[in-house]
Order: sequence, then structure tokens, then C-alpha cells
Amino acid sequence: MAEALPTTVAAPEERPAAAGPRTFDVRDPATGALVGTYPNHTAAEVDAAVARARAASDWWQQLGFAERARRLDRWRGEIARGASELAALVRAEMGKPRADAQLEIAMAAEHLRWAARNAERVLGPRSVPAGLLTINHAATVEYLPYGVVGVIGPWNYPIFTPLGSLSFALAAGNTVVFKPSEFTPGVGLWLKQAFDRVVPERPVLQTITGLGATGAALCRAGVGKIGFTGSTATGRKVMAACAETLTPVLMECGGKDALVVAPDADVAAAADAAVWGGLSNAGQTCLGVERVYVHRDVYDEFVSRAVTLARSVQAGPGGAIGPITMPRQVEIIRAHIADALARGGRALLGGSDAIDGRYVQPTILIDVPEDSTAVTEETFGPTLTVTRVDSMDEAIDLVNASAYGLGASVFSRRHGPDIARRIRTGNVAINAFVAFATIPSLPLGGIRESGFGRVHGADGLREFTYPHAVTRQRFRSPLPLTTFTRGPRTDALVGRLIGLLHGRA
Ligand code: NDP
Repeated sequence: MAEALPTTVAAPEERPAAAGPRTFDVRDPATGALVGTYPNHTAAEVDAAVARARAASDWWQQLGFAERARRLDRWRGEIARGASELAALVRAEMGKPRADAQLEIAMAAEHLRWAARNAERVLGPRSVPAGLLTINHAATVEYLPYGVVGVIGPWNYPIFTPLGSLSFALAAGNTVVFKPSEFTPGVGLWLKQAFDRVVPERPVLQTITGLGATGAALCRAGVGKIGFTGSTATGRKVMAACAETLTPVLMECGGKDALVVAPDADVAAAADAAVWGGLSNAGQTCLGVERVYVHRDVYDEFVSRAVTLARSVQAGPGGAIGPITMPRQVEIIRAHIADALARGGRALLGGSDAIDGRYVQPTILIDVPEDSTAVTEETFGPTLTVTRVDSMDEAIDLVNASAYGLGASVFSRRHGPDIARRIRTGNVAINAFVAFATIPSLPLGGIRESGFGRVHGADGLREFTYPHAVTRQRFRSPLPLTTFTRGPRTDALVGRLIGLLHGRA
């Protein structure tokens, strides 16, 4: 049996030369207190982890769908029973309230269950029609695992997001090497240790910890596929590294999601969704609402309701929203607010003095021009821009003008589906926020700068496999086509068949 990676620092003589620091610290973003110290795994250590994963791959595949599903179900049980401890760890590492971390665990468990239960149905062999010219063949297709998949995850939903890749890659029969964000390595290790308890035989899921360079090493380690979730800027680097070895990638990148409020909307519900969608997790949500487009007929009511609701949300220790996890993000939020205000925008709540250290109070901005960075770039803070529109056509054009294309929400009593169909993002929720991310059978992912490929659902399972097409000749063809012994009679018949089969199309 191959050995799992050490989770403490190896002795210096056992370590290959490292370019960066040997370890890194994780600090509670609320207090600055040390939460843990983790190894900064080197490229050689990443390669060794991938080699172990490769050696374990056959064993995991040979277990078959049913046994893998049993193990994944038991993993789900471990996660559920440890939910309280896990939520506390999420809070300590990245700062969100424990109740929000618990919500994340609940959602992740649903996807894990779905992946385990549906992998065989979606990926198992199935017969497909062979067609007239090849009627003597049986044709089947099945979806086979890549072998080893590398998963690179972000810190903002350190359970829900990586599990969207881990659950589906594992259920499909891959072994996985997982690189969590440097802000949440403890959560990544916790998940791996829980997995080890239900799959003790082989290192089917390994967690490597480290900084960006460790992730870059994983891209170059010869895995079958990389499942990346993170910012668009890092996504570009990941793709460039993967291009060197033609390693396929799944890109779950950033967003600038909009919420559209039609004149026939339930305005109270829309305001509630916009405020939760924009402020929860301190706005550090890829699918978070950052822009709101409201029809002029309901604009005043919407703004008044949103401001009232948002005023009751406090960022601070024990508040409804926690600190900004990444120190450098605070300056980006500050710059976006400043840009909006400098270009004629107004803050109805929060604004330039909303930032105090790592805490950012809810900020609602109106009259912000569409070319302000507060509208064009991912802010990743508890801010909303609210823009009045004259028509739903205008709202749709503005939503679609974004370089991003991850998700959107539409509030309308009668026209939701019509509006949703015209919005060019990977996902749209009508009369709700983000419902599509919780429904396990729906694919989740973006277009344009939000990435490509899908997690969740049947598409999410296929994402970590390749289609394997097999034919079996059942009897000799009366019309042998692929042979030099083919005669003029066959050629004439083929000529007639082309006319018969396709000539009238
Ligand atoms: P980053 O892009 O900063 O990091 C993502 C991961 O990539 C981290 O594990 C990071 O490691 C790693 N990494 C950094 N540099 C490299 C490199 N050169 N090669 C390989 N890996 C590297 O994103 P964040 O962690 O800040 O997460 C927030 C972003 O994620 C937001 O843009 C958000 O929208 C997006 N996101 C998208 C989701 C989706 O479903 N589309 C879901 C959740 C988040 P390290 O932390 O050590 O630097």
C-alpha cells in the first residue's frame, strides 16, 4: 500500500530542495491568531503524491460503482457527524459565521450523495444505434475515469466548492490529489482524513498543502485532468501551465453576477435575495449578487427595501458577516467603492468609510456608471450597485455586457422564463438566489471569463471522464466497405445508397 503524504513537516534531509518557505501559517482573519502551520509542499512532493495516486488508481476503479458509492456514502456520514468541528475550522480559517459554514456542509453533502447514487447510471456502458451502413456492429459507449485528477480549490467555500469536483471525480473512479487554498489547508486536510477513515486501503484522496507554486506544480505533474476553482487571473496561469502537457482543465472562475427586477416582481422577495446574495459571506461568493438592475416602476420601492434590510446586517465579531479573508482584497473593495463615487455614484449605505480593518460594512451604491470597476470587475466584498432601467431589454443587455458569465437571478411573476432564456450565463435562478447551485442534478459553471466545463449533475460526472466508444462486429457485412477486396459492385451500391439515404434531404 502506498503511503499518504505527511501532514506535518518532514525532516530537512527527507525533503527535496524547496524554492519557497518550508511551511506557511494560517491566521484567523478576525483576530490574527495563529490557526495552524502547514507544509509548503514542493514540486517533488507533488509528483510523489501523484505517483501514489496513480498506483492507487486501478484499485479504486476495480472497486466498481456500487462499492465506491458505499464508501462515498460513508464519507458523507463522516462529514455530517463532524459537521460542527468542520464548521468551526472553516470559521477559524476564513472567517465566515459557523452557521454559514454549516449551510455549506449541508449543500455539499447533497451533491456528494447525488454523485455516488448516479455515477453508474450516467457513466456506465450503454448501447447506441449503429446505423444502416454499419448494421452488422453493436456499438456501446461508456465514460471512463482519467486515472488521477488534480483539484485546486479556493478558500471562500472551502467545503462546498472543492467537493463539487472531489465528489464527482471520485464517484467517476478517479483518484484525486487536492490542493486547497493556502487560506484553508486545515479544511482540506480534515476532508482527506475523514476520507481515509472510510477508504483506509489506498491513498485515493490526498491533500497537498502549499502556496500558489504548489498548485502550479500539480498542473505540471502529469495528472489526467485539473479541476480548478478560483479567480480568472489564476485560471489563466493554470491553463498556461496545463497547456505545456496538454492536460485538460475544468475552469470554475470568477463572476460579476446580476439580479434583475422586473416591474411585475415580488419586490420584497427580490430585495431580500439581493441583500443575502450580495452580503452573505461578506460578498466573497463567486455567484454573489454584485449588480442589480431594477425596472424604473419598482426602483424606489426596491432601493428602500434593500437599504432597510442591509442596514440590519453588521460586519464584525459575532456579526452576520465576518471579515474579508484575504488582506489584499480589502484594497480592491476600497478601490471599487472609490471609483464608483468618483464617477458620480452615490452610497445609500456604507461607502468610503465602510471599511474598518478587515471588516467591510454593507454598501449599496446607486447611479454608478456601467464602466466603473464597481460594475465591471469582481469586487468580492459586501457591496451592491443598483441601477434603474427603462425596460427588461435594457436590463438584459447590461447583464450580458459583462466579461463574466457565471450566474444570474431574475425576479418576475410572469416573465421569468422569457428573461432567463435571454441571459447569457451558465446558470439563472428565477424568483430566488442561487437555487441552481443547490440542485444536485443541475450542472454548474460559467461561460466567457467565468470559465468552462461543469461541476454537479450528469455533466459534472462526465467532466472527470472521457467517452470510450467500442464497436463489436456481430456478423460479416454483406457490404464490406473497408477492404481492398471491395469490388465495383459494392462501389455502385454505395453510390446508389448515398442517393437513397441522403439525396432527398
Ligand atoms: P485564487 O485564484 O487566488 O486561488 C485559487 C487556487 O489556485 C488556490 O488554491 C491557489 O493557491 C491556487 N493557485 C494560486 N496560484 C496558482 C498557480 N500559479 N497555479 C496553480 N494554482 C494556483 O482564488 P481564491 O482562492 O482567492 O478564490 C476566490 C476566487 O474563486 C474568486 O474569483 C471566485 O469568484 C472564484 N470562485 C469561483 C467559483 C465557481 O464556481 N466558479 C466558486 C468559488 C470561487 P493559494 O491559495 O495557495 O494561492
